[in-house]
Order: sequence, then structure tokens, then C-alpha cells
Amino acid sequence: MKAFDITNLVRPNIRSLQPYRSARDEFRGKASLYLDANENPFPSVYQRYPDARQQRLRKEVAELKGTSPTQTLVTHGSDEAIDLLIRAFCQPRIDNIITLPPTYGMYATFASINDVAVREAALTPEFALDPRAVLKASDSSSRIVFLCSPNNPSGNLLRSEKIRDLLRSFPGIVVIDEAYIDFAGTASWTKSLNQFPNLVVLQTFSKAWGLAGIRAGLCFAHPEIIQVLEKIKPPYNVSYAAEKTILHAMSRQHRRMNRLSEVIRTERALLVKALQDVRFVRKVYPSDANFLLVRVDDAEFIYEALLRKGIVVRLRSGALHCDNCLRITIGTPAQNKKLIRVLNSL
Ligand SMILES: *Cc1c(COP(=O)(O)O)cnc(C)c1O
Repeated sequence: MKAFDITNLVRPNIRSLQPYRSARDEFRGKASLYLDANENPFPSVYQRYPDARQQRLRKEVAELKGTSPTQTLVTHGSDEAIDLLIRAFCQPRIDNIITLPPTYGMYATFASINDVAVREAALTPEFALDPRAVLKASDSSSRIVFLCSPNNPSGNLLRSEKIRDLLRSFPGIVVIDEAYIDFAGTASWTKSLNQFPNLVVLQTFSKAWGLAGIRAGLCFAHPEIIQVLEKIKPPYNVSYAAEKTILHAMSRQHRRMNRLSEVIRTERALLVKALQDVRFVRKVYPSDANFLLVRVDDAEFIYEALLRKGIVVRLRSGALHCDNCLRITIGTPAQNKKLIRVLNSL
């Protein structure tokens, strides 16, 4: 593999940026009296700013995930990591990113907000990754390709040999968004961080961990990439409340999370079978995530009919290769039974 120069990929203005220094950056020891950050002197649970450097968080996350703290960053949802990556590596109106439709919409949205062009390299009609299509869509200004595995909205994992091909051949950063990895039963790409300096892995507390309201995401990459993101992140991007909640979840609720993810995987298999027996269902796509992409005879009609029964699913007909498709989140056993009962009554 050719040497990969991260510094050269960073936007020139970010390379030369002097990061903001918070009170806790200027003084890092222990003191008896903190009169440096204009906090309120009267004690309360949330009196102090959180640790901008996330030392405890990064240590605990790294231990759980088998990474090193220098390869690890906690973000305000994984959506923040997507934005930080684009802002760190893409010059507005000059550089571009590559997305693989149909996929998660936030990659293109953040690119547009940052005035960065989006090039599309479609997944195949079976939602497989075609590395040659990605290379064909890219040019010397392509900085990041966003892979989503398991992919939203199709639900499937992308083949690891194809991802490895791309990690070797793509001249920029390869992001693998693993928001749904805990439902997949396969190893995370974090295991390959030491092998690929251009690999970035995103995970989140929003799905399997059941903490979407907390807004906490995880970003894993080569320490040089993490340093760049650290430099541009808002100093207090993870609140003290979120920090406490995820430390507690990681130490006390890991088994619960695994158990409930297992229930969802079992329910997924049952729901696939039940959906295949519904009169107007044409195809249920295989899923490694906590949702199913389902092709029906008339998606808009079914969507509206479900709504009238108080059940809301996601209409995905507009997405590439997703004609007449609904995306349905796996519910509890009782919720799934109700869904099937209602579908069979339409
Ligand atoms: C839900 C989802 C996320 C989660 O974003 P958060 O900001 O962490 O809540 C990220 N990527 C994909 C593909 C998702 O579906």
C-alpha cells in the first residue's frame, strides 16, 4: 500500500488553525479553587463544564471497543462526526465527497451545508458495493467516500473484500458508518484501524444502546485524523449529562444492550417470515440492521393506510432502487404482532 499522507489531505486553513483554548486547556492540574471559567460558584450537579479532552470517556470507550484512546473521539451524535470530517478535509467549492445511493441522507446534507460537491456512485440494484464505480465517480479532488454498513435504508452489510479493495485504492478517507453494527453479528471495522490509516469508523449510542436522546456518537480513526477532528470540534461537544449517561451505560448496561439487540435480531427473522406471507408484499430485503426494507404493490397506499391505523413507517419510494419500498423499524414482539395484524387486515 502506498504511503498515506493525512496532513496533505487536511484543508489548508485547518492545517494552520490555532485551536480555541478553553480554561481547562490553559490549566490542567488540580486546584482547590477554580475561578478561571466563569462557572457559577454555588454547587450543583451540572455546575462545571465537561472535560473538553474527554479523557475518561475516551479511555473507557477505547477499553470497551479495543481501540486506543488516541484513535477514539466522542461526538454530539455521529452526525457531528460527519460534519467535522467534511469541514476538516473538504475545501468548499473545490473538493468533493462520494456517496453511494441509496444511503443515509446526512452525508450529502452536511456536504451541501459546507458548499462541498457530492458525487454519486450507486450501489448495485442488490445494494452491493462496487469499488470500481466509486473510483470512476472520483477524481483528484475527492476527499471522502461515505460507506454505510449495514446500509440505511437497505439494511445489508457491505462485503468486506469490496471495502478492503476500496481502502487500498481510494486516494482519500474511507468512512464506514456502523450505526447498526450491533444488530449485525459481525466484527467492527475498528479491528482494522492499525492496518488502514485512511479508515474512519463511526458508531452511535442512538440505536442499539437506546440513547438517541443523549446525542452521543463515536468516531474511530488513525490518531492523526482524530487530532484534526479534536482541533475543530466545539470544546464541550459532549455534555456532562451525556458523559455520565454513556459511562453508566458502558459499565452497567452492556449486557442488557446485547440481550435486547438479540431480541431484535430474533424478531427481525420472525417479521421477515410474517411479511413474506402478506398478500401485497413483493420482496423483503435481507437485513443486518434493526429495520427491514420491504417492497409492496403500492407503497404510498400502504403507507397512508397504516397511518390511518396510527402506525408510521418510512416511505422510501423516492430513493434509488427503492421503488414502492417502505422501511420498517423492528419493534417489540407485541408491536410487531400488531403491525402484521394490521397489514393483513388492509
Ligand atoms: C441513525 C443513524 C445515525 C445516527 O446518528 P446520531 O447522530 O448518532 O443519532 C448515523 N448514521 C446512520 C446511517 C444512521 O441511520
